[in-house]
Amino acid sequence: MPTIFSKIIAKEIPATIVYQDELVTAFKDINPSAPVHILIVPNKEIASTNDVQPEDEHIMGHLFTVAKQVAKEQGVAESGYRLIINNGSDSGQEVFHLHMHLIGGRKLGPLVHKAD
Ligand code: 5GP
Repeated sequence: MPTIFSKIIAKEIPATIVYQDELVTAFKDINPSAPVHILIVPNKEIASTNDVQPEDEHIMGHLFTVAKQVAKEQGVAESGYRLIINNGSDSGQEVFHLHMHLIGGRKLGPLVHKAD
């Protein structure tokens, strides 16, 4: 069964797509954590980083090239931004279709909250 992100990539359900090519699609997060919150997603369904194969290296590298371009277009290349890939339960990964969060447009604070 296709993931929700595959349906967005196929334009079967709506999203604000900001970039798309044969390998990768980038679209606005539906529940943004910051003024700029873009998800950059391989068109290929890779569930998580645990499932990345050597033949996927060109896709994974391409995520960063697209991130650089999207950051510039979204106006955060100079002010700064954070790239996050959640993997598995402890990270809070909700959608098991690998994706890179590009977050910026405000001071983002510490990377990870310290445990109580
Ligand atoms: P994760 O927690 O898996 O790293 O992040 C999943 C992200 O996908 C969340 O930030 C969530 O807001 C976003 N998301 C979930 N469903 C949809 C959707 O249908 N459309 C869009 N644009 N974003 C979604």
